[in-house]
Amino acid sequence: MPQGNGRARQAAGPGNENVRRPRAIILDIEGTTTPIAFVTKTLFPYARRHLRSFLDHDGDASSDVIARLHAEHHHETDTSCPPWPDDSPAAGRAAAIPYVQWLMDRDRKSPALKDLQGRIWENGYRSGELVGDVFADVASALERWQREGIGAGIFSSGSVLAQKLLFAHSSAGDLTRYLRWYFDTGIGAKGDPESYARIALHIATPPADVLFISDVLRELDAARTAGMQTAMSMRPGNAPQPAHDHRVVGSFDELT
Ligand SMILES: [Mg+2]
Repeated sequence: MPQGNGRARQAAGPGNENVRRPRAIILDIEGTTTPIAFVTKTLFPYARRHLRSFLDHDGDASSDVIARLHAEHHHETDTSCPPWPDDSPAAGRAAAIPYVQWLMDRDRKSPALKDLQGRIWENGYRSGELVGDVFADVASALERWQREGIGAGIFSSGSVLAQKLLFAHSSAGDLTRYLRWYFDTGIGAKGDPESYARIALHIATPPADVLFISDVLRELDAARTAGMQTAMSMRPGNAPQPAHDHRVVGSFDELT
């Protein structure tokens, strides 16, 4: 008799709990670990301000970026794009600046632009001029998840370099020791379920054991389509999202 009761209790499970404990948590940055304003009001303007001095003074790094920008410019079809007059290095430097400004004005997802911004931010973080802004509960949550054996990683449209810089030089200190994985759009678009399937493969964890947290509904829908658990991040300054049935969290402290 006691045996039968035990089995019955087990089958019924722990009441209304329908979310299983994740083995891995993948985090978006903007609007999830970090205020959106840090990116729009601090990082982007910083890159604009230091664009000219970086391209003028940073030797091989800037030559490399200019070559990548030139290659992308070659395939540009938008007629409002500023011209790139000729192939000399001096002309390249002069042509790169208006082209980069043009890309930034449009928030274009250009790999060369992201590379350039990452290198400019790197200088800023290293000098202490930039400090990665994270919400107050982020560091303690990352520490707690690590203690509990839950792997944590990032999936953001910012480059992996930019992600690592933000967490290495964060307002809560160096958080990179808590982060096992970094993914940018090199793995795929954030709205594409395939990207989440690839991430699950990459971290060798079944999608059902992965929790993805973001402030953008189409990203959560894509992660859910791939079989992941999801949570909508509601942080101050986030854009309102359409109606949905994802779990909502205002702080990582709610994920215990
Ligand atoms: Mg976001």
